[in-house]
Amino acid sequence: MEQRCDALFFSAHPDDVEFGMGGTYLKIAKEFKSVHIILTRGEAGTHGTPEKRVKEAVKAGKFAGAEVEFMDFKDNHVEDNAKNAKKLAAVIRKYKPKVIFSPYHGITGSHKDGISHPDHAALGKLVLKAARFAKFKNAEVDGEPHLAHRIFYYMIPRHVIPDVVVDVSGVVSDLKRLWACHGTQMALRDGKIVNALLEHRKMIGKIHGSVYAEHFVVDEPLMLDPKDLLRV
Ligand SMILES: [Zn+2]
Repeated sequence: MEQRCDALFFSAHPDDVEFGMGGTYLKIAKEFKSVHIILTRGEAGTHGTPEKRVKEAVKAGKFAGAEVEFMDFKDNHVEDNAKNAKKLAAVIRKYKPKVIFSPYHGITGSHKDGISHPDHAALGKLVLKAARFAKFKNAEVDGEPHLAHRIFYYMIPRHVIPDVVVDVSGVVSDLKRLWACHGTQMALRDGKIVNALLEHRKMIGKIHGSVYAEHFVVDEPLMLDPKDLLRV
């Protein structure tokens, strides 16, 4: 069976993609074959059980139109090493994505900041290594070599200037429904998580000229066709 996908999304915890880049996820998964890989079941989180969180992530994937697959990493213990990078490289070879989305590998921040969970930055570093290992013929990784075009990083620290901004103003009502799939996490930020996520997107939108937006970092400049320059 053909497993090739267009976009491969990585999360350390069941809600990372939805909370970190949900609007872009919805827009892409609606149109392109998308797979969401979740490393842990969020078992160390304050709210919800691993069983509930798996169900919520599957529900969110169905709503977005993406396939969801869990790996067996341990929450709070996602470690950046060659062995783990090979596990992710095998996933990249399995789905052969055109593009990959991952938490940013350079996340720094306060212990109070949601994006600065050490699993997020570790995952970013692992994905960067894994995308490289996936292309090496003799990398001792399951599957046929594959080179993804690009990795887009979400969850960007405040001091980092984004390279790509996506206008998500048109999908805000669906975005709220997507977030609501993660029922146990609605208790975050004293029950004001949805408001916080919207305010964050409003801030990005305000800086870049739309109402709501999400932003990304890439490791190298985007190469565009001149026709694309007339569209952006
Ligand atoms: Zn997370």
